[in-house]
This record gives sequence, structure tokens and C-alpha cells, in this order.
Amino acid sequence: MHEVSITQSMFDLVLKHAEQAEAKKVTKINLVIGEMTGVVRECVQFYLDFLSKGTVVEGAALSVEMVPPKARCRQCGETFQLGEFDWTCTKCGGKSLQVMAGRELFVESIEVE
Ligand SMILES: [Zn+2]
Repeated sequence: MHEVSITQSMFDLVLKHAEQAEAKKVTKINLVIGEMTGVVRECVQFYLDFLSKGTVVEGAALSVEMVPPKARCRQCGETFQLGEFDWTCTKCGGKSLQVMAGRELFVESIEVE
């Protein structure tokens, strides 16, 4: 799983922002995860708990917004939600799709004290 490195870079970013804001404590981390990344929320939480021990991030609540995969058909322009294994346009059956959403992975914001 790649959650270790993802959580590590996310944690570094949160810590940097907390330091810049001179925060005593990070209370909440708002995270956006696209479903296509395959990142599991529980894993992120697990590594975050581990990494944050003894830092201002320790005990911060993790709020995760999952983004369902969306694609746009290059043939007819239809935008629709992607099935897990079904990579065809729901309107015209075209197979030339452009991924519009679902690959997101970023810290949207943090809340500090
Ligand atoms: Zn189409």
C-alpha cells in the first residue's frame, strides 16, 4: 500500500502549516480523497496517529471527503460517474474517456487552536 508515503507527505504539510500559523494544536484535518486513488481512509488514520505522536497534530480529527470517479466522453461530451470496471460512455458507448474527477488527493484545510 502507498498510504505510508501519502500520509507522510500530508503530515509534513499539515505540520508546516501549523508552524506557520503558530498553532498550539491542530484540531482537524480536512482531506479530499478521490476514489480512484485507492487510498483507504482507515490506513491514513492509522499512519497519522503513528506519525503525529508528540507533535501538535496529535489527536487531530480526520475529516475525509471521498470523491467518486467521473469521466467525460471525448466522442459525445457526456459527463457521467464511472463504474469500477465499466469504461464505456453511458450515452453513446464510446470508449475514449477523459477522467474528470476521482484522482484527487490533497489536504483541503486544517483547523488549529
Ligand atoms: Zn459518449
